[in-house]
Amino acid sequence: MDKSSDVMNQAVSAAVPGQRGFDYLIVGAGFAGSVLAERLAREQGQRVLVVEKRPHIGGNAYDRYDDAGVLIHPYGPHIFHTNSADIFEYLSRFTEWRPYQHRVLGSVDGQLLPIPINLDTVNKLYGLNLTSFQVEEFFESVAEKKTEIKTSEDVVVNKVGRELYNKFFRGYTRKQWGMDPSELDASVTARVPTRTNRDDRYFADTFQAMPLHGYTRMFEKMLDHPNIKVMLNTDYREVADLLPWKHMIYTGPIDSFFNFKHGKLPYRSLRFQHVTVPQEQFQPVGTVNYPNDYGYTRISEFKHITGQKHPSTSVVYEYPCAEGDPYYPVPRPENAALYRLYEAEADAMENVTFVGRLATYKYYNMDQVVGQALAAFKRLQQRHAAAETGTPALQSARAAAEGR
Ligand code: FAD
Ligand code: UDP
Repeated sequence: MDKSSDVMNQAVSAAVPGQRGFDYLIVGAGFAGSVLAERLAREQGQRVLVVEKRPHIGGNAYDRYDDAGVLIHPYGPHIFHTNSADIFEYLSRFTEWRPYQHRVLGSVDGQLLPIPINLDTVNKLYGLNLTSFQVEEFFESVAEKKTEIKTSEDVVVNKVGRELYNKFFRGYTRKQWGMDPSELDASVTARVPTRTNRDDRYFADTFQAMPLHGYTRMFEKMLDHPNIKVMLNTDYREVADLLPWKHMIYTGPIDSFFNFKHGKLPYRSLRFQHVTVPQEQFQPVGTVNYPNDYGYTRISEFKHITGQKHPSTSVVYEYPCAEGDPYYPVPRPENAALYRLYEAEADAMENVTFVGRLATYKYYNMDQVVGQALAAFKRLQQRHAAAETGTPALQSARAAAEGR
């Protein structure tokens, strides 16, 4: 039997008993695909096939225990944070949480200093004892004020001046993105605030917590529904023409969907080096950034993030690279223009909906992808409702006939 018929037989036998085919073919079992599968199956009673080319669910948020028994994030550290009570409440249906506030130190001039830059960063770096008011004055005195903030360089030098920019942002950004901050949209470095107080948390969101039993367990609960079938190790192209489905949700890279007809969209990749060391703790906080030395940008230690107790500890080094799995869309004007060509094609497709970080080419965090998926679900729900009750023209014709 050839591979495609083998795959089709698997899918057909996975279909809901007594019914042929699926209402939805969902490409990708990350946040975008899993939230939509869950909503469509549970709320709308739709029959859903999730096709995932990797050997696991969860997308880049997938976690697992390594050989030493430490819970790790194979695709880099994932810390959940959101300001949306709705998104937090939605995910809370599938997991309990462990409160966790992420802290990051930057290795600069031989010291480990708080990132985002705050009062302590400045005092420790320069051996000063400034107050919050004084550090504000200090920032004012060194800032290179810009009339227009366009690039990732503008954002930082406008707030903290060139010296701090060079020490904390320039090298990190050049390593991470393979280009100078002046070539990237302001939104990239604007993710990291500047503070005049001593708050050393990486995020300031209202809700900051980790799924108590990990992301994968949360995804398993989301996808645990009789109307949802999951097919792993399968590219959707292997099954899309062989199986009956009515609507596709696509969460992979959008340029790949259209066979790169307008050219390749740049995505930045990473190589992850996972290491387990036979000691309780490797570094003082969850992540240490290395803006100016080494080929890697940061080292993250999972036990800080997950709260796991274990005599050994596992860390991940992130080495940015151009080739490899697509992890980051690259926010800059020419890429946004290229994306708009694909977006126009996507909008014209009646039976495919594009959702997620790669499919909408947006540098989104997990909560933003959940929000985007829930919004897409609402639109699909309205379509279902309209299909059931008929078009507005039909409705008014009916109402007229009934004398309403
Ligand atoms: P993905 O998780 O990429 O899922 C898409 C899935 O589609 C993938 O599993 C892929 O294998 C599958 N797929 C693609 N093409 C095909 C195909 N042809 N056939 C079948 N399947 C296919 N966010 C935070 O909120 N906090 C963090 O701390 C954080 N840290 C991050 C660290 C790193 C290193 C990275 C890269 C991202 C981080 N993120 C973080 C962002 C987070 O990973 C994303 O927002 C989220 O996982 C995106 O979900 P998604 O479903 O859109 O995409
Ligand atoms: N950044 C930096 N120095 C740092 C931390 C961040 O220059 O110490 C810049 C860098 O360009 C990075 C961006 O800010 O890509 C966003 O940082 P974030 O930690 O949000 O990146 P992510 O976790 O998404 O990789």
